[in-house]
Amino acid sequence: MKIKGIIFIILIGFRCVAIAQEKLEVFSNINDYRNDIISNPAYQLVEISKAIPTIKLDIKYATTHNFSGVAVYKQARAFARKPVVDALKEIQLELKNEGLGLKIFDAYRPYSVTVKFWKVTPLEKKEFVANPKTGSRHNRGCAVDLTLINLKTGNELEMPTAYDSFAAEASPTYEDVSALQKQNRDLLIKIMESNGFKVIKNEWWHYDFKGWDKFPLMDIPFEKL
Ligand SMILES: [Zn+2]
Repeated sequence: MKIKGIIFIILIGFRCVAIAQEKLEVFSNINDYRNDIISNPAYQLVEISKAIPTIKLDIKYATTHNFSGVAVYKQARAFARKPVVDALKEIQLELKNEGLGLKIFDAYRPYSVTVKFWKVTPLEKKEFVANPKTGSRHNRGCAVDLTLINLKTGNELEMPTAYDSFAAEASPTYEDVSALQKQNRDLLIKIMESNGFKVIKNEWWHYDFKGWDKFPLMDIPFEKL
């Protein structure tokens, strides 16, 4: 009996450790964030349009024109960690030589929005949205969704799909696309990947920045930053 009791206690102990490890650390306190960026300036969430005034924004999640059909952001703004914005600035400069520029659809996304997306996405489409169990790289301020535009006209370059498409053609390696779509998609991937980003496997528009795992998950709304 005694041994059984001890085994029971040990098993419960292991379970508690497992639960503790499953629990995600999400920073939601603005004062903690402000203290963090004093000791580590790379943690700063920089407003992209302030750092790069020529960049275009089209923040779909501040409108109802997104896959969820709900405006999940109160403000149409885009933030990312300082090294991410520095890399975007370099890319914007390189693109200017070719008469092109970047248009941002989404960047830092507060964790509570990821939870909301998970709830509204049907089971068969869940592979396209981040699981709140791990959080999204957008929640770490280290992922950007973007496309290329012609600087003169402001028009988007033609890509294989629209932003946030759940179609197979959204994969960055999908072959059965037009020559022009492939050329534009591959140009975007090439310039992003030569500046520290990596395209995700099922979305030509989504890029993770190197070292994203060193940055904590955040749940601070844009209006507080
Ligand atoms: Zn994304």
